[in-house]
Amino acid sequence: MKFAMIGAGAMGLRYGILLQEAGNDVTFIDTWQPHIDKIREQGGVYVSRDHQDRHLTPIKLETPESYKGDPDILIFFTKQMQLAGFLKRCEHFFNDRQYAFTCMNGMGHIEKLQQYFADDKIIAGTALIATVLNGPGDVDFMGKAGAGKMNMANLTEKPDEMTHQLFDELKKANMNPTLTTNFRGTLMTKVIFNSVINTLCTLFEIQMGEFGNFPKAYDLGRQLIDEAYDICERAGITLVSTRDEEMHALDINTRIDMPLHYPSMYQDMIHDRPTEVDYINGYIAQLGREHNYEAKTHIFLTNLVHLAEYHRANQKKAREAEKAKIANQSKAKTTTTTNAQTA
Ligand code: NAD
Repeated sequence: MKFAMIGAGAMGLRYGILLQEAGNDVTFIDTWQPHIDKIREQGGVYVSRDHQDRHLTPIKLETPESYKGDPDILIFFTKQMQLAGFLKRCEHFFNDRQYAFTCMNGMGHIEKLQQYFADDKIIAGTALIATVLNGPGDVDFMGKAGAGKMNMANLTEKPDEMTHQLFDELKKANMNPTLTTNFRGTLMTKVIFNSVINTLCTLFEIQMGEFGNFPKAYDLGRQLIDEAYDICERAGITLVSTRDEEMHALDINTRIDMPLHYPSMYQDMIHDRPTEVDYINGYIAQLGREHNYEAKTHIFLTNLVHLAEYHRANQKKAREAEKAKIANQSKAKTTTTTNAQTA
Protein backbone atom coordinates (compact mmCIF):
# COMPACT_ATOMS: atom_id res chain seq x y z
CA MET A 1 0.00 0.00 0.00
CA LYS A 2 1.01 3.59 -0.53
CA PHE A 3 1.22 5.71 2.64
CA ALA A 4 1.98 9.37 3.34
CA MET A 5 2.99 10.04 6.94
CA ILE A 6 1.82 13.54 7.78
CA GLY A 7 4.20 14.51 10.59
CA ALA A 8 7.52 12.69 10.73
CA GLY A 9 8.11 13.14 14.47
CA ALA A 10 8.48 10.33 16.99
CA MET A 11 5.28 8.42 16.14
CA GLY A 12 5.17 9.26 12.42
CA LEU A 13 8.64 7.79 12.10
CA ARG A 14 7.78 4.74 14.19
CA TYR A 15 4.66 3.84 12.21
CA GLY A 16 6.14 4.85 8.86
CA ILE A 17 9.44 3.01 9.23
CA LEU A 18 7.73 -0.18 10.47
CA LEU A 19 5.21 -0.01 7.58
CA GLN A 20 8.11 0.58 5.17
CA GLU A 21 9.97 -2.43 6.58
CA ALA A 22 6.77 -4.48 6.14
CA GLY A 23 7.00 -3.78 2.38
CA ASN A 24 4.85 -0.67 1.91
CA ASP A 25 5.64 2.45 -0.13
CA VAL A 26 5.97 5.21 2.50
CA THR A 27 6.70 8.92 2.12
CA PHE A 28 7.19 11.18 5.15
CA ILE A 29 5.95 14.75 5.09
CA ASP A 30 7.23 17.25 7.60
CA THR A 31 7.63 20.97 8.22
CA TRP A 32 10.26 21.26 11.00
CA GLN A 33 13.24 22.63 9.07
CA PRO A 34 16.13 21.49 11.35
CA HIS A 35 14.70 17.93 11.17
CA ILE A 36 14.29 18.06 7.38
CA ASP A 37 17.84 19.43 6.93
CA LYS A 38 19.36 16.79 9.24
CA ILE A 39 17.57 13.87 7.51
CA ARG A 40 18.71 15.12 4.09
CA GLU A 41 22.28 15.72 5.28
CA GLN A 42 22.68 12.27 6.87
CA GLY A 43 20.68 10.39 4.17
CA GLY A 44 17.95 9.12 6.49
CA VAL A 45 16.95 8.84 10.12
CA TYR A 46 18.99 7.32 12.94
CA VAL A 47 16.79 4.70 14.61
CA SER A 48 17.49 3.06 17.99
CA ARG A 49 15.47 0.65 20.06
CA ASP A 50 15.60 1.26 23.82
CA HIS A 51 18.78 3.40 23.27
CA GLN A 52 20.56 0.44 21.55
CA ASP A 53 21.49 -0.54 17.97
CA ARG A 54 21.50 3.02 16.56
CA HIS A 55 21.50 2.72 12.77
CA LEU A 56 20.73 4.84 9.73
CA THR A 57 17.41 4.09 7.96
CA PRO A 58 16.89 5.77 4.58
CA ILE A 59 13.45 7.37 4.12
CA LYS A 60 11.64 9.37 1.44
CA LEU A 61 11.02 12.85 2.87
CA GLU A 62 9.04 15.76 1.42
CA THR A 63 7.53 18.99 2.62
CA PRO A 64 3.77 19.55 2.16
CA GLU A 65 4.57 21.85 -0.77
CA SER A 66 7.03 19.51 -2.54
CA TYR A 67 4.96 16.30 -2.29
CA LYS A 68 3.19 15.36 -5.52
CA GLY A 69 2.12 11.77 -4.70
CA ASP A 70 -1.30 10.13 -4.41
CA PRO A 71 -1.23 7.83 -1.37
CA ASP A 72 -3.99 5.33 -0.48
CA ILE A 73 -3.80 6.30 3.18
CA LEU A 74 -2.57 9.43 4.92
CA ILE A 75 -1.44 8.79 8.48
CA PHE A 76 -1.56 11.86 10.71
CA PHE A 77 0.90 12.10 13.59
CA THR A 78 1.21 15.77 14.46
CA LYS A 79 0.67 17.34 17.85
CA GLN A 80 -2.99 18.41 18.23
CA MET A 81 -2.21 22.12 17.93
CA GLN A 82 -0.18 21.55 14.71
CA LEU A 83 -2.86 19.61 12.83
CA ALA A 84 -4.88 22.50 11.34
CA GLY A 85 -1.69 24.01 9.85
CA PHE A 86 -0.56 20.67 8.36
CA LEU A 87 -4.03 20.01 6.86
CA LYS A 88 -4.08 23.43 5.19
CA ARG A 89 -0.59 23.00 3.73
CA CYS A 90 -1.27 19.42 2.52
CA GLU A 91 -4.77 20.04 1.13
CA HIS A 92 -3.50 20.24 -2.48
CA PHE A 93 -2.78 16.50 -2.61
CA PHE A 94 -5.97 15.27 -0.87
CA ASN A 95 -8.71 13.57 -2.89
CA ASP A 96 -11.94 11.73 -2.13
CA ARG A 97 -10.44 8.26 -2.74
CA GLN A 98 -7.94 8.58 0.12
CA TYR A 99 -8.35 7.47 3.73
CA ALA A 100 -7.15 9.43 6.76
CA PHE A 101 -5.86 7.45 9.70
CA THR A 102 -4.46 8.65 13.03
CA CYS A 103 -3.58 7.47 16.52
CA MET A 104 -2.92 10.92 17.96
CA ASN A 105 -3.54 11.47 21.67
CA GLY A 106 -6.29 13.74 22.95
CA MET A 107 -9.49 14.86 21.23
CA GLY A 108 -10.06 17.71 18.79
CA HIS A 109 -8.40 16.16 15.76
CA ILE A 110 -11.42 14.30 14.38
CA GLU A 111 -13.45 17.46 13.73
CA LYS A 112 -10.45 18.93 11.91
CA LEU A 113 -10.04 15.80 9.72
CA GLN A 114 -13.78 15.93 8.93
CA GLN A 115 -13.23 19.31 7.28
CA TYR A 116 -11.14 17.56 4.58
CA PHE A 117 -12.26 13.89 4.52
CA ALA A 118 -15.68 12.21 4.37
CA ASP A 119 -16.72 10.33 7.51
CA ASP A 120 -16.46 6.94 5.77
CA LYS A 121 -12.81 7.68 4.97
CA ILE A 122 -11.74 8.45 8.55
CA ILE A 123 -10.22 5.76 10.75
CA ALA A 124 -8.74 6.66 14.13
CA GLY A 125 -7.33 4.86 17.08
CA THR A 126 -5.06 4.90 20.05
CA ALA A 127 -1.46 3.76 20.46
CA LEU A 128 0.02 2.27 23.61
CA ILE A 129 3.41 2.58 21.98
CA ALA A 130 6.14 4.84 23.33
CA THR A 131 8.59 6.64 21.06
CA VAL A 132 11.06 9.46 21.67
CA LEU A 133 12.47 11.90 19.13
CA ASN A 134 15.93 12.55 20.59
CA GLY A 135 16.45 15.48 18.24
CA PRO A 136 16.42 16.22 14.52
CA GLY A 137 16.87 13.01 12.48
CA ASP A 138 17.19 10.76 15.53
CA VAL A 139 14.40 8.56 16.91
CA ASP A 140 14.23 5.94 19.68
CA PHE A 141 11.59 3.19 19.54
CA MET A 142 10.86 2.28 23.18
CA GLY A 143 10.05 -1.34 24.02
CA LYS A 144 11.02 -4.57 22.31
CA ALA A 145 9.88 -5.29 18.73
CA GLY A 146 6.16 -6.12 18.90
CA ALA A 147 5.80 -4.95 22.51
CA GLY A 148 3.28 -2.11 22.06
CA LYS A 149 -0.35 -2.35 21.02
CA MET A 150 -3.01 -0.19 19.45
CA ASN A 151 -6.75 0.09 18.82
CA MET A 152 -8.48 1.36 15.71
CA ALA A 153 -12.08 2.10 14.70
CA ASN A 154 -13.92 3.65 11.75
CA LEU A 155 -15.68 6.94 12.41
CA THR A 156 -18.77 5.30 10.85
CA GLU A 157 -18.16 2.21 13.04
CA LYS A 158 -18.49 0.12 9.84
CA PRO A 159 -15.16 -1.46 8.85
CA ASP A 160 -14.75 -1.73 5.06
CA GLU A 161 -12.23 -3.45 2.79
CA MET A 162 -9.63 -0.68 3.16
CA THR A 163 -9.94 -0.85 6.96
CA HIS A 164 -9.11 -4.54 6.85
CA GLN A 165 -6.20 -3.93 4.47
CA LEU A 166 -4.82 -1.25 6.81
CA PHE A 167 -5.33 -3.57 9.78
CA ASP A 168 -3.36 -6.34 7.96
CA GLU A 169 -0.47 -3.98 7.14
CA LEU A 170 -0.32 -2.72 10.75
CA LYS A 171 -0.30 -6.33 11.93
CA LYS A 172 2.54 -7.20 9.54
CA ALA A 173 4.39 -4.14 10.87
CA ASN A 174 4.12 -5.65 14.38
CA MET A 175 1.89 -2.89 15.81
CA ASN A 176 -0.57 -5.38 17.39
CA PRO A 177 -3.78 -3.69 16.21
CA THR A 178 -7.25 -4.43 17.59
CA LEU A 179 -10.21 -3.36 15.44
CA THR A 180 -13.24 -2.10 17.40
CA THR A 181 -16.65 -0.77 16.36
CA ASN A 182 -16.89 1.74 19.22
CA PHE A 183 -15.27 4.89 17.86
CA ARG A 184 -15.74 7.49 20.63
CA GLY A 185 -15.43 4.94 23.42
CA THR A 186 -12.11 3.68 22.07
CA LEU A 187 -10.64 7.19 21.73
CA MET A 188 -12.01 8.51 25.03
CA THR A 189 -10.71 5.54 27.03
CA LYS A 190 -7.17 6.52 25.98
CA VAL A 191 -7.80 10.23 26.60
CA ILE A 192 -8.78 9.34 30.18
CA PHE A 193 -5.72 7.13 30.59
CA ASN A 194 -3.47 9.96 29.37
CA SER A 195 -5.28 12.49 31.59
CA VAL A 196 -3.75 10.72 34.58
CA ILE A 197 -0.33 9.48 33.50
CA ASN A 198 0.77 12.09 30.97
CA THR A 199 -0.41 15.02 33.01
CA LEU A 200 0.84 14.01 36.46
CA CYS A 201 4.22 12.69 35.25
CA THR A 202 4.72 15.87 33.23
CA LEU A 203 3.83 18.19 36.11
CA PHE A 204 6.31 16.52 38.43
CA GLU A 205 8.85 15.63 35.69
CA ILE A 206 8.88 12.00 36.80
CA GLN A 207 9.06 8.63 35.07
CA MET A 208 5.88 6.55 34.90
CA GLY A 209 7.24 4.01 37.39
CA GLU A 210 7.80 6.72 39.98
CA PHE A 211 4.13 7.64 39.76
CA GLY A 212 2.97 3.99 39.78
CA ASN A 213 5.00 3.19 42.88
CA PHE A 214 3.80 6.26 44.83
CA PRO A 215 1.60 4.93 47.68
CA LYS A 216 -1.20 7.39 46.86
CA ALA A 217 -1.10 6.78 43.08
CA TYR A 218 -4.38 4.86 43.26
CA ASP A 219 -6.20 7.74 45.00
CA LEU A 220 -4.86 10.34 42.54
CA GLY A 221 -5.78 8.20 39.53
CA ARG A 222 -9.17 7.18 40.87
CA GLN A 223 -10.31 10.77 41.40
CA LEU A 224 -9.51 11.69 37.79
CA ILE A 225 -10.95 8.46 36.41
CA ASP A 226 -14.20 8.79 38.38
CA GLU A 227 -14.72 12.35 37.20
CA ALA A 228 -14.04 11.44 33.56
CA TYR A 229 -16.22 8.31 33.68
CA ASP A 230 -19.10 10.27 35.25
CA ILE A 231 -18.88 12.74 32.35
CA CYS A 232 -18.74 10.01 29.67
CA GLU A 233 -21.81 8.37 31.21
CA ARG A 234 -23.68 11.68 30.94
CA ALA A 235 -22.42 12.11 27.34
CA GLY A 236 -23.64 8.62 26.38
CA ILE A 237 -20.13 7.38 25.58
CA THR A 238 -19.56 3.69 26.28
CA LEU A 239 -15.92 3.34 27.26
CA VAL A 240 -14.06 0.16 26.31
CA SER A 241 -13.00 -0.63 29.88
CA THR A 242 -14.67 -0.31 33.28
CA ARG A 243 -13.33 2.07 35.94
CA ASP A 244 -11.58 -0.82 37.69
CA GLU A 245 -10.06 -2.09 34.44
CA GLU A 246 -8.77 1.41 33.66
CA MET A 247 -7.21 1.62 37.16
CA HIS A 248 -5.63 -1.80 36.61
CA ALA A 249 -4.26 -0.71 33.20
CA LEU A 250 -2.73 2.40 34.81
CA ASP A 251 -1.06 0.28 37.46
CA ILE A 252 0.36 -2.31 35.04
CA ASN A 253 1.46 0.28 32.52
CA THR A 254 3.31 2.46 35.01
CA ARG A 255 4.84 -0.11 37.35
CA ILE A 256 5.42 -3.11 35.08
CA ASP A 257 5.32 -2.25 31.36
CA MET A 258 7.00 1.16 31.11
CA PRO A 259 8.40 2.22 34.51
CA LEU A 260 11.35 4.09 32.97
CA HIS A 261 9.38 5.93 30.32
CA TYR A 262 8.52 9.63 30.39
CA PRO A 263 5.19 10.28 28.61
CA SER A 264 5.10 12.27 25.36
CA MET A 265 3.62 15.34 27.13
CA TYR A 266 6.76 15.46 29.28
CA GLN A 267 8.91 15.52 26.11
CA ASP A 268 7.07 18.68 25.03
CA MET A 269 7.40 20.33 28.44
CA ILE A 270 11.16 19.82 28.72
CA HIS A 271 11.68 21.07 25.18
CA ASP A 272 9.68 24.21 26.03
CA ARG A 273 6.96 23.28 23.51
CA PRO A 274 3.25 23.72 24.30
CA THR A 275 1.65 20.55 25.68
CA GLU A 276 -1.54 18.82 24.51
CA VAL A 277 -3.22 19.24 27.94
CA ASP A 278 -6.12 21.29 26.52
CA TYR A 279 -6.96 18.32 24.27
CA ILE A 280 -6.73 15.79 27.13
CA ASN A 281 -7.81 17.04 30.61
CA GLY A 282 -9.13 20.21 28.97
CA TYR A 283 -11.25 18.15 26.57
CA ILE A 284 -12.74 16.13 29.45
CA ALA A 285 -13.56 19.38 31.26
CA GLN A 286 -15.19 20.80 28.11
CA LEU A 287 -17.25 17.64 27.63
CA GLY A 288 -18.30 17.97 31.28
CA ARG A 289 -19.43 21.57 30.72
CA GLU A 290 -21.54 20.43 27.75
CA HIS A 291 -23.30 18.00 30.11
CA ASN A 292 -23.65 20.26 33.15
CA TYR A 293 -20.84 18.61 35.11
CA GLU A 294 -17.96 20.66 36.48
CA ALA A 295 -14.82 18.51 36.20
CA LYS A 296 -13.05 20.38 39.01
CA THR A 297 -9.97 18.14 39.19
CA HIS A 298 -9.40 18.09 35.42
CA ILE A 299 -9.83 21.88 35.26
CA PHE A 300 -7.39 22.33 38.14
CA LEU A 301 -4.81 20.03 36.50
CA THR A 302 -5.16 21.75 33.11
CA ASN A 303 -4.43 25.07 34.80
CA LEU A 304 -1.47 23.61 36.70
CA VAL A 305 0.11 22.35 33.46
CA HIS A 306 -0.34 25.82 31.95
CA LEU A 307 1.29 27.29 35.06
CA ALA A 308 4.27 24.96 34.55
CA GLU A 309 4.47 25.98 30.85
CA TYR A 310 4.31 29.65 31.87
CA HIS A 311 7.03 29.17 34.49
CA ARG A 312 9.32 27.44 31.97
CA ALA A 313 8.71 30.18 29.39
CA ASN A 314 9.70 32.81 31.99
CA GLN A 315 12.82 30.85 32.90
CA LYS A 316 13.75 30.61 29.22
CA LYS A 317 13.27 34.37 28.76
CA ALA A 318 15.46 35.04 31.82
CA ARG A 319 18.21 32.69 30.49
CA GLU A 320 18.13 34.40 27.09
CA ALA A 321 18.26 37.86 28.68
CA GLU A 322 21.26 36.79 30.79
CA LYS A 323 23.01 35.40 27.70
CA ALA A 324 22.36 38.62 25.76
CA LYS A 325 23.70 40.67 28.73
CA ILE A 326 26.92 38.63 28.84
CA ALA A 327 27.33 38.90 25.05
CA ASN A 328 26.84 42.70 25.22
CA GLN A 329 29.30 43.02 28.11
CA SER A 330 31.99 41.08 26.24
CA LYS A 331 31.30 43.14 23.06
CA ALA A 332 31.65 46.37 25.09
CA LYS A 333 34.90 45.07 26.62
CA THR A 334 36.34 44.24 23.16
CA THR A 335 35.34 47.72 21.87
CA THR A 336 36.99 49.42 24.89
CA THR A 337 40.21 47.40 24.40
CA THR A 338 40.27 48.18 20.65
CA ASN A 339 39.67 51.91 21.33
CA ALA A 340 42.44 51.94 23.94
CA GLN A 341 44.84 50.24 21.48
CA THR A 342 43.87 52.69 18.70
CA ALA A 343 44.36 55.64 21.08
P1 NAD B 1 6.47 14.90 17.79
O1 NAD B 1 6.49 16.17 18.55
O2 NAD B 1 7.64 14.00 17.89
O3 NAD B 1 6.24 15.23 16.23
C1 NAD B 1 5.13 15.96 15.78
C2 NAD B 1 5.61 17.04 14.83
O4 NAD B 1 6.38 18.02 15.56
C3 NAD B 1 6.52 16.54 13.70
O5 NAD B 1 6.18 17.26 12.55
C4 NAD B 1 7.91 16.90 14.20
O6 NAD B 1 8.84 17.09 13.15
C5 NAD B 1 7.65 18.20 14.93
N1 NAD B 1 8.63 18.50 15.98
C6 NAD B 1 9.24 17.63 16.85
N2 NAD B 1 10.06 18.28 17.70
C7 NAD B 1 9.97 19.59 17.38
C8 NAD B 1 10.58 20.76 17.90
N3 NAD B 1 11.43 20.72 18.91
N4 NAD B 1 10.26 21.94 17.33
C9 NAD B 1 9.38 22.01 16.30
N5 NAD B 1 8.77 20.92 15.76
C10 NAD B 1 9.05 19.74 16.29
O7 NAD B 1 5.10 14.18 18.19
P2 NAD B 1 4.81 12.63 18.43
O8 NAD B 1 5.40 12.21 19.72
O9 NAD B 1 5.09 11.88 17.18
O10 NAD B 1 3.24 12.71 18.68
C11 NAD B 1 2.28 12.76 17.63
C12 NAD B 1 0.94 12.42 18.24
O11 NAD B 1 0.98 11.07 18.74
C13 NAD B 1 0.57 13.28 19.45
O12 NAD B 1 -0.83 13.45 19.50
C14 NAD B 1 1.02 12.44 20.64
O13 NAD B 1 0.36 12.74 21.84
C15 NAD B 1 0.66 11.05 20.13
N6 NAD B 1 1.36 9.93 20.77
C16 NAD B 1 2.70 10.00 21.04
C17 NAD B 1 3.33 8.91 21.62
C18 NAD B 1 4.82 8.92 21.89
O14 NAD B 1 5.29 8.02 22.62
N7 NAD B 1 5.61 9.84 21.32
C19 NAD B 1 2.59 7.76 21.94
C20 NAD B 1 1.23 7.72 21.64
C21 NAD B 1 0.62 8.81 21.04
